[in-house]
Amino acid sequence: MSASASLTHELIQAAYFIAALLFIIGLKRMSSPKGARGGIVWAGIGMLIAGLITFLSPGMRNDILIIVAIFVGGVAAWWSGKRVPMTAMPQMVALYNGMGGGAAAAIACQELVHGRPFAPAPVVLAVAGAIIGAVSFSGSLIAFAKLQGLISRSLRYGAQQAVNSLVLLATLALGGWIVARHGAAPLSVVAAFFALALLEGILITLPIGGADMPVVISLYNACTGLAVAFEGFVLGNAAMIIAGMVVGAAGTLLTQLMARAMNRSLANVLFSNFGETAAAAGEVTGSLKPIEAPDAAVMMAYASKVIVVPGYGMAVAQAQHKIWELCQLLMDRGVTVRFAIHPVAGRMPGHMNVLLAEAGVPYDLISDLDEINAEFETADVALIIGANDVVNPAARADKSSPIYGMPILNADKAKNVIVIKRGKGAGFSGIENALFYLDNTRMLYGDAQKAGAELIQAVKALE
Ligand code: NDP
Repeated sequence: MSASASLTHELIQAAYFIAALLFIIGLKRMSSPKGARGGIVWAGIGMLIAGLITFLSPGMRNDILIIVAIFVGGVAAWWSGKRVPMTAMPQMVALYNGMGGGAAAAIACQELVHGRPFAPAPVVLAVAGAIIGAVSFSGSLIAFAKLQGLISRSLRYGAQQAVNSLVLLATLALGGWIVARHGAAPLSVVAAFFALALLEGILITLPIGGADMPVVISLYNACTGLAVAFEGFVLGNAAMIIAGMVVGAAGTLLTQLMARAMNRSLANVLFSNFGETAAAAGEVTGSLKPIEAPDAAVMMAYASKVIVVPGYGMAVAQAQHKIWELCQLLMDRGVTVRFAIHPVAGRMPGHMNVLLAEAGVPYDLISDLDEINAEFETADVALIIGANDVVNPAARADKSSPIYGMPILNADKAKNVIVIKRGKGAGFSGIENALFYLDNTRMLYGDAQKAGAELIQAVKALE
């Protein structure tokens, strides 16, 4: 290697190392709402460095094509990022994640299509990354289509698991054959291998209920990370290896967190059709007792502590601004206000935190389930806004309930509970909520944004 080639090599490695460091710092900062915005910028700069330095890599060709691809992808991401509503964020994540898996599979495809012999380790990694990346790509696209409402039914039939297993076995067999040939396989075999891997992603994802998609997306996110790391080994690209590992680990932890917060195993998420079949609910006694906004406003305005529990309905109604305005009025009257966030409130982790941050709610008023649960007993009012499953006491007490064991916010322990929702609509799990029938619960019916506006007027009228 000449001196200048060696210098370029050192420069590239140093830049990849810095990029990887920036990814890790960025991810660390994303673990808190306060640092998240900055974390995205740090990781973005890392990506920029990694992208730019790649142009110096030896053997790089087609610079113009790459620049055009970066431009098209960048504009599409910028445009969609600006336009997407918060409620559509899960499908947006699915799409981006699918692109990552597809890119990893495309790298593997490019390497394998060359048909040149590989050393044993890289060919195993290329094939493994190809399978995982292709499954993640096609699976994420199906997840996107389901969340976007493009596919409304979950495809289920008798021998489904057997067919899925057969397709997987055939994919692994072809992959094994390519490995045995050290990557020097005919094009037709490589094409069949990729087609089967893509089919497997579709087959695995089609039967899963649309409402479980966030967990599936998180799992595919972990897979994408792994596939990128494997292909990083194949290309000898340190930034890809580290970034892939970081994404893989973060995706795995997130998947575990979501499954644990729902008290469900990953197998249950993948194979149970949860939330799509009529759930067997335990018996609920009592009656639903409506309340009007002026009475609810009096209850809260003269309370000393109100705990607000937002849920999916707040996201649907985009009611966060009205709710924060209401809370500010209450705080001006000397009421202590706290926000309680369940880890799976809404349809993706952090859903509620993002909405509240967007509305300007200070972070120190927002508490996680573990921090706040003991405080409900000292609250005069628990104000539930479009939340349902995450406050269903059946999860604590009713062993026959499909959500039994799921950690919940103990809103029922508050002295009074006010629930804002439009009607008798069930939550994600499809079951009745015992909280709504308790003696200390009142139902304020209506769209959360409209109800929020009525409460604001009613509190103002008290002055
Ligand atoms: P739920 O889905 O349990 O309940 C939402 C409630 O909001 C409904 O009962 C609905 O009642 C009400 N609602 C809908 N639209 C409006 C509106 N415009 N105004 C007022 N209310 C409205 O939500 P939760 O947040 O309590 O629970 C989340 C569920 O999602 C959990 O079961 C969780 O396991 C699941 N899940 C969450 C994931 C995550 O990562 N966050 C991932 C996968 C699943 P009505 O129709 O009567 O108005």
